[in-house]
Amino acid sequence: MNQPITAKINNKGHFEIGGCDCVDIASEFGTPLYVLCEVSVRGKCREYRTAFKDRYPNSLVIYASKALCNISLLKIIQDEGLGVDVSSFGELYTAKKAGVDLANVYMHGNNKPKKELEDAIDLNVGAIVVDNFAELETIGEITSKSKKQVKILFRVNPGIEAHTHEFVQTGQTDSKFGIAKEDILKAVSFALKLEYVDFAGLHAHIGSQIFDIDPFLAEIDVLTLLAKEINNQLGFKVREINIGGGLGIDYSGSDNVPAIDSFAGKIISHFKEKCAEASIGEPKLILEPGRSIVGVAGITLYTVGSVKDIPGIRKYVSVDGGMSDNPRPILYGAKYEALIANKASMQKEEKVTIVGRFCESGDKLLIDYELQKAEKGDILAVLCTGAYNYSMASNYNRVTRPAMALANNGSVKLIIKRESYEDLVRCDVF
Ligand SMILES: *Cc1c(COP(=O)(O)O)cnc(C)c1O
Repeated sequence: MNQPITAKINNKGHFEIGGCDCVDIASEFGTPLYVLCEVSVRGKCREYRTAFKDRYPNSLVIYASKALCNISLLKIIQDEGLGVDVSSFGELYTAKKAGVDLANVYMHGNNKPKKELEDAIDLNVGAIVVDNFAELETIGEITSKSKKQVKILFRVNPGIEAHTHEFVQTGQTDSKFGIAKEDILKAVSFALKLEYVDFAGLHAHIGSQIFDIDPFLAEIDVLTLLAKEINNQLGFKVREINIGGGLGIDYSGSDNVPAIDSFAGKIISHFKEKCAEASIGEPKLILEPGRSIVGVAGITLYTVGSVKDIPGIRKYVSVDGGMSDNPRPILYGAKYEALIANKASMQKEEKVTIVGRFCESGDKLLIDYELQKAEKGDILAVLCTGAYNYSMASNYNRVTRPAMALANNGSVKLIIKRESYEDLVRCDVF
């Protein structure tokens, strides 16, 4: 099982993270509840930062906040010296509220609404990663009106297939994201004519939950070669190369994920070699990990409601959350690991299917999973739910979204309140 770095079984036989007993956390804040281990988040930030800074000082790690975005978390990210990648003005707004240095915020999206672009430029966002010609034109219009300068990068479609789920592949030729590499020179020459647009460099993001380093190296080949062409044909020196995110995490405890340090080592030696070959100097290297910073740090606690045994067929364990707080199993067939927090020291002895409370038969969190003997009232902990769980949560069935707590050093505090029924009808007009 892959779990937060502070996870252990305490002397009551209960599962504990951040020095806090998960059974106590559940009774204090209720369930379903997301719990984040602060030491794990900070640890990953430091691992990334040192692995890159030590080898290549002109580098910047920015956290892809779509994985999990709230004010307390972004304060930690800022405190650890990372920048922030946002994919909407809402995420940018959260970063601003958290006091993030907006100079290190990069804004993404394949179809950013004009209003969000205007608002972002107005806030002096660090950079906009421009996805297509229409957007470049819009930015040209906005900035010539406001006379405000904005830094841009172009998102390149590098034509690379990362070996991951097709829903989270983003760098293949047939993708909605990015400008074909053949059209980049045209885009750059257009940008260089725009008075208030400061073209700084190139970006690509090839996908998510990637285990293999080779596609990243292929991506570096494409980006450095394009930088060379821009330099040779337009006489413009690219200042930044942003290779996106996508390093996977081990959800099942059996996957072979590269360690951050060895990932950094391979990326940087290849990057330096290719920059030298292309004679493009030493541009700033940016990367944007999301999942690999918060994924393992988070768990979700649920209360078991009913246990239903269909003899000879299956045993169902129903919990008080499900697809609205964790849509990844129903969306991608994502696999998780779990345990019963109040029985953490006991053997896993029966194969069960853990299902949620929502009105869909597909609302299954874990299928045919070996678990401690489950009974009504048990607290179930699902592991590795830090990324793309809260951020993808919905109010399906008009269920309130859970709270999130941050555990550290024996104390736990609320960082996101549980929604109330009143929140659910807040936008209803009648
Ligand atoms: C989603 C995304 C990331 C982060 O991906 P992870 O798999 O969470 O590391 C980085 N950059 C961009 C542009 C993204 O869309």
